[in-house]
Amino acid sequence: MLNKIVIANRGEIALRILRACRELGIKTVAVHSAADRDLKHVRFADESVCIGPAPSAESYLNVPAIISAAEVTDAVGIHPGYGFLSENADFAERCESSGFVFIGPKPETIRLMGDKVSAIEAMKKSGVPCVPGSGGALGVDPEENIRIAREIGYPVIIKAAGGGGGRGMRVVRSEAALPNAVSLTKSEALAAFSNDAVYMEKFLENPRHIEFQMLADSHGHAIHLGERDCSMQRRHQKVIEEAPAPGITEDVRREMGERCAEACRKIGYRGVGTFEFLYENGNFYFIEMNTRLQVEHPVTEMVTGVDLVAAQLKIAAGEPLSYQQHDITLRGHAIECRINAEDAKTFMPSPGKITNYHAPGGPGIRIESHIYNGYVVPPYYDSMIGKIIAHGNSRDSAIARMRTALSEMVIDGINTNIALHEDIFRDAGFKAGSTNIHYLEKKLES
Ligand code: ADP
Repeated sequence: MLNKIVIANRGEIALRILRACRELGIKTVAVHSAADRDLKHVRFADESVCIGPAPSAESYLNVPAIISAAEVTDAVGIHPGYGFLSENADFAERCESSGFVFIGPKPETIRLMGDKVSAIEAMKKSGVPCVPGSGGALGVDPEENIRIAREIGYPVIIKAAGGGGGRGMRVVRSEAALPNAVSLTKSEALAAFSNDAVYMEKFLENPRHIEFQMLADSHGHAIHLGERDCSMQRRHQKVIEEAPAPGITEDVRREMGERCAEACRKIGYRGVGTFEFLYENGNFYFIEMNTRLQVEHPVTEMVTGVDLVAAQLKIAAGEPLSYQQHDITLRGHAIECRINAEDAKTFMPSPGKITNYHAPGGPGIRIESHIYNGYVVPPYYDSMIGKIIAHGNSRDSAIARMRTALSEMVIDGINTNIALHEDIFRDAGFKAGSTNIHYLEKKLES
């Protein structure tokens, strides 16, 4: 097992990783910004190192500072969490060339899957169903692009090969708008991702977002842990996630999961990873792979009983998977609410001091959060301050437990989106299940 690791992240996920390390007897080094001295995991860690001032660019994205922290503390591995440097192939390479274990896939795998054009090519070769599209980056000839769009059929979506976080995409509904849309997306992509390659896909009007959780070791074994439905989104940001996805049968799960597992074996995948699909009229369409742990991993943990962070750490230490596919069975249903420090109506961020905090509890309730009474939510980072996960024998039971948990939770001093979650959990459409990715935004407009 790894002896000591650096946790190169903050907030709830840093605490989650720290807890997994404690359970496995791994020592921890918390690297944090000057604004994050009072984070819970910084207090709990065996050692801590301040790696820079508050802005992420100077701290959580500061590669030399993180590598130095690992060196001075004699750590052997670096866990990137999610966001920040977690999908940065250059960082993974720097870790490995400096003699540290990067707790994630190989740098070349991150690079392959980080470019959406090469990712789609690799998936097609492995038999994973993709969205009908240009099958490669678009050229600059408008006539050729018009021909491709005609073949796909409008509406189409122009997407940046290097895009992420729901940015760098443009829907095109008519031929007249196409040439301009391509050049606009290209220049935006260059500015945002330093890569002006864009590609074209059929725009699916009313899909659901369904993703498969994968686990692969460095010995060629890969399994799936079922799927999650993350269709409740606002501005492409997930708000609520659940496992399993309503309406997905055991046969479909087995077939799609096995296709993804086979793709993992083909690309030599290592660690945890997620295949994201749009799902419409009974068909799956691959959109991208996330080569890291995800925010919503706990819903999969609750229904499978697998500790995904512990599994990551064991895989990074070179251990073979301790599960085979037939060991994985789903039990009950789990739902996660992301709790954000923001106004429930305007969505404006709401940093500040938490003057009173009470966490819910009871059967099937799990809280992943770094906040406490008196904690000051800094204005510099993502507004997510925690997650409530409710597990029950059925979806209805998970919903009932979540409603109780939401009503018990007290966070005073700042605004949160708890009222929005309460509203969604009263919504008949959500309760029925299988809503599409536009459902929440439509509900908010009405
Ligand atoms: P990112 O890496 O920025 O998250 P994705 O490729 O995962 O980009 O797409 C983000 C979201 O954009 C999807 O969840 C979906 O809502 C929408 N989207 C992307 N591609 C399509 C498509 N072909 N048709 C319809 N919606 C799409």
